Amino acid sequence: MAKTYAIAIDGPAGAGKSTIAKRLAKELGYYYVDTGAIYRTVAYFLDLLGVSPKDVDGVERYIDELTIEIEYDEEGKQHMIMNGMDVTGEIRTQDISQKASLVSAHAVVREMLLDMQRDVAKVHNVIMDGRDIGTVVLPKADVKIFLTASPEVRAKRRTDELLAKGQTAEYEVVLKEIQQRDYQDTHREIAPLKMAKDSIKLDTSELDIDGVIDAMKKIIGEKIPL
Ligand code: C5P
Repeated sequence: MAKTYAIAIDGPAGAGKSTIAKRLAKELGYYYVDTGAIYRTVAYFLDLLGVSPKDVDGVERYIDELTIEIEYDEEGKQHMIMNGMDVTGEIRTQDISQKASLVSAHAVVREMLLDMQRDVAKVHNVIMDGRDIGTVVLPKADVKIFLTASPEVRAKRRTDELLAKGQTAEYEVVLKEIQQRDYQDTHREIAPLKMAKDSIKLDTSELDIDGVIDAMKKIIGEKIPL
């Protein structure tokens, strides 16, 4: 099998991972894998069934009834298919963000999703973003970048993003939710959000998108042929 390249991008909510990874993937001709969307799909599925994301027994009981597929359209956009239904749009709410963070702490959920994520990287060049890509999912990734920014900057970006989509969002509420998710994601027992030892940290607080892209290309170009 031909060598495939993997770029792992981890970091907290709102650091700009998906915006940046999407653009880079397009420029480099890589597949973009948004792993947060997979956890969101699990959260959405359980939510439809009325199962609390904190309910260990409920999660374990119903998780086998869920099948998830990742598909890409002709523009390279990732679609999440939940039991045959495209739920790509439905999973992008603040409510599901919060529930995904709780659901992602369960061992049974993380195990179920591990191979799905690794399989894409076996056959394609990927830019994969998430919380544990460099530490757990692709520990041998060719490049690992940890994208971060202050909670205030991240909350401002997330608020603007939600408003642009026509959803309601209040900065103070979004900031609180981001801080809560940061706490949950960094304090869970399995695969917590943390920087891999061989990861390069990039703080995007003071950078615009082009600035981040330039900085990332520099880091990536030192490790793999562009
Ligand atoms: O990246 P996004 O905000 O869509 O992720 C939603 C939630 O899914 C995160 O708060 C995190 O708890 C979880 N997640 C995870 N591991 C990943 C990606 C996301 O636990 N690799």
